[in-house]
Amino acid sequence: MQIAFIGLGNMGGPMAINLIKAGHSVKAFDLSQDALAKVKAEGGQAAASAQDAVQGAEAVISMLPASQHVEGLYLGSGNLLASIAKGTLVIDSSTIAAATSQKVAKAAEGLGLDFIDAPVSGGTGGAIAGTLTFMVGGSDAALERARPLLEKMGKNIFHAGTVGAGQTAKICNNMLLGILMIGTSEAISLGVANGLDPKVLSEIMRRSSGGNWALEVYNPYPGVQEASAATRGYTGGFGTDLMLKDLGLSQENAAAVKASTPLGALARALYAAHSLAGHGGEDFSSVIKMLQKNG
Ligand code: NAD
Repeated sequence: MQIAFIGLGNMGGPMAINLIKAGHSVKAFDLSQDALAKVKAEGGQAAASAQDAVQGAEAVISMLPASQHVEGLYLGSGNLLASIAKGTLVIDSSTIAAATSQKVAKAAEGLGLDFIDAPVSGGTGGAIAGTLTFMVGGSDAALERARPLLEKMGKNIFHAGTVGAGQTAKICNNMLLGILMIGTSEAISLGVANGLDPKVLSEIMRRSSGGNWALEVYNPYPGVQEASAATRGYTGGFGTDLMLKDLGLSQENAAAVKASTPLGALARALYAAHSLAGHGGEDFSSVIKMLQKNG
């Protein structure tokens, strides 16, 4: 299949490479030449622009930071949607506001395109291994068209509901993850302040009632897990500012439906302070620094 892939960052890059490895022809575009070069090195075609990428594409996939990027790409001055051939499948895997997904979907539908929101979970490790979880919003028919592609990038595909429902599921999940990462960081920091070895303590909690995804695969304490972002100096993972964006989305949503999410609100405030202290570009697990001596 001829696929246009737009946004080749920490997640989009490895996702595009998995499609190439599965035998698809990927014409990729990113504003960053470095990101583009990595996909080109794995057999992707480098497009000169997003408009160029979608020429001849049977499916278009985007993986961009936030709502404004997705709206700007598809509906902005370049009006990319209008350049995509009628009948093409458009998959947006970025984590953005459900309302933005619905706005883009409506415009896409008007042009005879099939659109789904398909945000992901599983981190950069999952993107590289092709084991992501997709949370899809859209019609049954559009999801069935997308499924063979999603299966090359992930192992769990959930149909959350109509367009936007994937985004709602994603912000619920990430609100929980943001809270869990702070709780995990607090517990490890408390143990270390008492002289415990962070590796031993993490293993005890991983196998006890405090066990969670951060302890399984995303330990915030450097050196506990070889593959964690913490051990890589908090690089190459899920940025603090991206987590802050997701917690902002969940708080906006909570206000709109009058839901009570006090821990989500506190987590948002803590990541905002962490970002202001200069850690916005680091992996979100660096929030542990806030809780450590000389942090
Ligand atoms: P990233 O910042 O690493 O990558 C984003 C890429 O988009 C960058 O390479 C940037 O140059 C490119 N870009 C921005 N605007 C563009 C445009 N108009 N045209 C082309 N390229 C453009 O971000 P990421 O970590 O890959 O995250 C992408 C999305 O996935 C975000 O919505 C994030 O919340 C979500 N997400 C990330 C993770 C993770 O672990 N990193 C996990 C799940 C979901």
